[in-house]
Amino acid sequence: MSRIQKIIRPEIQALTAYHVPSSDGYLKLDAMENPYTWPAVAKESWAEMLKTLPINRYPDPQAQFVKDELRTLMGVADQYEIMLSNGSDELIQILAMAIAKPGATILAPEPSFVMYKMVATLCGLNYVGVPLTEDYELDHAAMSAAIKDHQPELIYLAQPNNPTGNLWDTDVMEDIIKSAPGLVVMDEAYTAFTDADFIEWLDRYDNLLIMRTLSKVGLAGLRLGILIGHSEWLNEFDKIRLPYNVNILTQASALFALEHYDMLKVQTEQIRADRVLLMQSLTEISGLTIYPSEANFVLVKTQNGMASIWHEELKNRKILIKNLHGSHALLQDCLRITVGSADQNEELCNALKEIAQSGAIQ
Ligand SMILES: *Cc1c(COP(=O)(O)O)cnc(C)c1O
Repeated sequence: MSRIQKIIRPEIQALTAYHVPSSDGYLKLDAMENPYTWPAVAKESWAEMLKTLPINRYPDPQAQFVKDELRTLMGVADQYEIMLSNGSDELIQILAMAIAKPGATILAPEPSFVMYKMVATLCGLNYVGVPLTEDYELDHAAMSAAIKDHQPELIYLAQPNNPTGNLWDTDVMEDIIKSAPGLVVMDEAYTAFTDADFIEWLDRYDNLLIMRTLSKVGLAGLRLGILIGHSEWLNEFDKIRLPYNVNILTQASALFALEHYDMLKVQTEQIRADRVLLMQSLTEISGLTIYPSEANFVLVKTQNGMASIWHEELKNRKILIKNLHGSHALLQDCLRITVGSADQNEELCNALKEIAQSGAIQ
């Protein structure tokens, strides 16, 4: 198939497609999903509403009702614009396309969200990953030096960071935003699980954008990403966005969910409370080190060389978590566990205890 080799860009040929393992019959604690569904009455009125939608028509290209509702809920000031997308993954792609001139660079601390690098590669951009410190803090000196050397068009700061779960020093982040020659995106995908909130920084920095998503609060299946920022920037990105990127079912369902946000709030508050209990239970299992978390997942370090064994043993017990070992030097022996419902967390901890006692782990 030399034609493929001739036609397809070499960096694409070198990639392996983003792999999502089949999860049929598993307890899914690998993808930061909300474990809860909606009360029956809410489901009922949602289904009633869906019936009325004109799916023979194109959706509102601006999804204006959804934006208005989000503006109120998130307290977005009038002077800022909101742009919506097919998940925040699509925003990452749109931002990359907007800056994709020869030699342009995206920079991010590492380890962080894998899409930053993947999309940079897909769009033919330079990507610079700056390692975090051993305890997953920003390396201030290394970040400053990399910004100076590479003059990145775009910098990503995920807060809380995925997959480490922590928040970084605010002074260091402000210094990064000030010294950045281009844009800085604060990716607040886990905003529902932390008190940290950087939306007010928009008032201070005109090179800052805030990115959010409805995926982690219980609407992963809808695919709705949210970009908030100065209209001068967002007007440019809006030219790249395909006109009907948020479909009518997503628009209507998101609006419904946002109008019933109390229902989601109860769930995310429950997850926050259960995170504390889960972390407590995990510390009681021998062989595991638990890192602090401001998100709906917990980073766990196993003893040397044991991550894949824990992962496999859980899989044998029909529980899926994320094995991070091998994905980055700083994630050696690491696993990432999504916080589930109280019952699910208990099932997980029981399985982990059983594995610890089984002799599978040396
Ligand atoms: C999950 C995640 C996203 C992607 O969210 P979608 O809206 O589902 O595409 C973005 N950023 C971070 C840091 C994430 O963990």
